[in-house]
Parts: sequence; structure tokens; C-alpha cells
Amino acid sequence: MDLSYSPEAEVFRTEIRSWLTDNLPPGWFDEGFQMSGDARKKFNEEWPEKLFGGGWICATWPTEYGGKGLSIMEGVVLAEEFARAKAPMRGDFFGDTLVGPTILQWGTEEQKKEFLPGILKGQTHWCQGFSEPNSGSDLASLKATAVLDGEEWVINGQKVWTTQGHNADYCFLLTRTDQTAKHAGISYMLVPMHQAGVEVRGITQPDGTAEFNEVFFNNARCPKENIVGGLNNGWAVANSTLAFERGMSATTGYRRFEAEYLLMVQEAVENGKICDLTTRQRLMKYYSKIQILRINGLRSLTSTLNKTKDLSIAALGLTNKMFWSEMHQESMELALDICGAKAMLVDASIGEGWPGVGRDKRRAGYPVSPMMSAFFFSRSETIWGGTSQIQRNIVGERLLGLPKEPKASGE
Ligand SMILES: Cc1cc2nc3c(=O)[nH]c(=O)nc-3n(C[C@H](O)[C@H](O)[C@H](O)COP(=O)(O)OP(=O)(O)OC[C@H]3O[C@@H](n4cnc5c(N)ncnc54)[C@H](O)[C@@H]3O)c2cc1C
Repeated sequence: MDLSYSPEAEVFRTEIRSWLTDNLPPGWFDEGFQMSGDARKKFNEEWPEKLFGGGWICATWPTEYGGKGLSIMEGVVLAEEFARAKAPMRGDFFGDTLVGPTILQWGTEEQKKEFLPGILKGQTHWCQGFSEPNSGSDLASLKATAVLDGEEWVINGQKVWTTQGHNADYCFLLTRTDQTAKHAGISYMLVPMHQAGVEVRGITQPDGTAEFNEVFFNNARCPKENIVGGLNNGWAVANSTLAFERGMSATTGYRRFEAEYLLMVQEAVENGKICDLTTRQRLMKYYSKIQILRINGLRSLTSTLNKTKDLSIAALGLTNKMFWSEMHQESMELALDICGAKAMLVDASIGEGWPGVGRDKRRAGYPVSPMMSAFFFSRSETIWGGTSQIQRNIVGERLLGLPKEPKASGE
């Protein structure tokens, strides 16, 4: 097995490294580097503009739509170098990763010209309006309606779990545009959020964050031409978005888990739990799974580069999200066991460096530790983007060719 990259890819790597060195704040690469809250806020505000200046937001998009037209390999190297530097590579997650690629795939020329520049510049913020109170796993049963009134759609209904709805300028929204059909009665719309007919209510979670919302549409308006992929074709378009959501950067996805693994080992060494046999075994199990994730990422990349498609590669794609999300839940339980009683302390200083440290807190003065925040969030990872149970149904039906599950309604 030859895991080395081409000389051209390595030249590109050097280019990215020097850009990162020139543009990240002084001291970024020094051990123990930290930013004050204000400095971090300023960095977060200024970084998208720098990224845009470098052309690194959505750099694999075609040049005609403002991307850099990078090859798959260059895109991989770019992601690797940003991950290595721990530098954010995004303007807006929902724009860059979900709706942008969906518009590229399904949108009209006018939609591409109107919406892609704002995503590339990190200026437009998006949210995903799919789930409703009674339509999560069975998403196609959604009830929010859109009715045409002249040149505009009039939207009524409620969405839930709308992540970042409170910060969004636009929502990519699924609505029912034909009451007589289920899947074939859904449309995918790009709806402005800043209007009187849209009310966003935050849902506060146990760690004090409120990243999710209920969103109420009460005669909200949306331009007629903002339907993506055609009237009543929203189910196919939504499935493209969901495939982007369930994917993971092939060669860098494992890195966040590796970083957490190292923090766990550090804590276990400091508090002596590293001498406990069961803890050592659980750590090794986690480490082995991280390596499986890394190597499967390389397998997926190889098959993409060589354009090979076989059952094992299809299986990797369909099982990937349930593999890492279930692994991560188990590992966060291990993290709590390693920390012991200390994990229960409400103390923001515990777990500096854990992913939860940068979470969006709307409830001030609720200093749950970043590690505890990461633990709570891991509970949701087998749910968002489609639950593990639903993923298993998909594997059974689409990969193994098992009979379709019976529906209660007898459809
Ligand atoms: C952190 C987080 C962020 C989210 N962000 C967004 C967002 O931005 N936008 C958005 O639209 N949605 C978002 N969601 C919602 C998410 O997509 C749904 O929660 C998810 O699809 C499950 O739907 P539900 O919560 O209604 O659960 P339900 O569908 O009610 O399922 C409840 C349980 O029953 C099981 N179940 C249901 N049907 C079957 C079946 N046929 N076979 C076997 N088991 C079944 C499920 O696996 C689950 O365990 C988010 C969710 C979370 C947790």
C-alpha cells in the first residue's frame, strides 16, 4: 500500500502551509497558545474575509461560480492542512457544506448567481428547515405548506431543531406544495428569515447552549423563483443535502476524535487511571476505532480518485455516520469515567481544548465545562442528519437488499 501523495499535491501543501503561517494570528502554532474571549471573537469575525481573500471557502467549486476549481486531491490536501493547523475552514457550515453544494447540483443559473457569492464570502448565514414536531425520521410526512400567491409563496407551519435559525439570513426549507402526494408533493425553497412572518424561538439545552430553535412560519413570503430542483421535486433535492450532511471529510474526519483521545490519555496519566486495566483496554479500543475511521477514509478517497465503485465502498458510505457517532458516544462515557467526580463540577476551566469550548452560549453565567458540553453533544450525534436506526434500515434495504420495512399505514 502506497499512502504517499503526488509531488504536485505536496507542492500545493507547501503553498497552503505558508498561507496559514502568514495569515493566522502570531503565536498560533506555539504550544499552549490561547486567545482571550475578545480576541477570539475578533478572529471569528475577521477570519471569513481572510479565507475568502485566499479563495479557500468552497475552493473545490468551479471557478465560474467563484470557487478555485481545485481537484479532489487538492481539496483533500487543503482540508488536511487546515485540520493540522486547527484553523477553521468555513464561512458558514450550512451554506458551505449543505445548501451551497445542493444549489450547485440542482439550482438554476439565476439561483447560483444570486446565492453562491454570499456563501463564498461567508456573508450569508443559512439554516436547515426540514424537521417538524411530528416529522423527523418520517420526514416525507411533513405538513408545513406553501401556496402560490402571485409572484410569491405563502408559507405556514412549524419547523423544529432548526440549528442556527437565530443567526440565519435564509432557510432551505421543505414545504408541502401538493396535498395529494407524499414524497412527490414536497418542494425545496430558499426562504428569507428576516421578515415578520418568521418567528424563531430558541430551545435551551442542558449545557446552557441554545443552538437549536423552533421556527414558526405565519404567512411568511418567499419569491416564486426560489424553488430548487423544480416544483414537487423537493424529496430528491433534500436527499442530496442529506447525503452531504452524512458525509465526512475523508482523510481529516478522524482528527477531532484523535485530539480528544490524547486529552483523555493526558487526564488518565495525571490522575493515575492510566494504570487501571479496564481503562487502558477502553482507550485502546477507542484508538483502534479511530484508526479504522482513518483508514476507511483513505479507502474512500482512493475509490473516488480511481472512480471505482463496489459494494464495500457503498457500505463504507452508508455506515460511516453510525460508526463514528456510536464510537464517539462510547468514548465520551469513557472520558467521564476517566475524569470521575471532577466531571460533575460546573467549572468552565475543565477540559480546555475540548470541542465544546467554542459552543454558542445564550444563557450567560452557566459555566458547564467544555468536556461536559462535548459529552452532551455526543448524545445528539446518533440523531441529527437521520438516526442510527434509520441508517440501519437504509443499509438493510439499499445495501443488503432486504425487504422494505412494513409501514403502519400499509403504504
Ligand atoms: C443536534 C441536532 C441538530 C439538528 N438540527 C436540525 C436542523 O438544523 N434542521 C432540521 O431540520 N432538523 C434538525 N435536527 C432534527 C433531526 O433531523 C431529527 O431529530 C431526526 O431526523 C429524528 O427525528 P425525530 O427527532 O423526530 O425522532 P423520531 O423520528 O420521532 O424518532 C424517535 C426514535 O424512533 C426511532 N425510529 C423512528 N422511525 C423508525 C423506523 N422506521 N425504524 C426504526 N426506528 C425508528 C428513531 O431512530 C428514534 O430513535 C437536529 C437534531 C439534533 C439532535
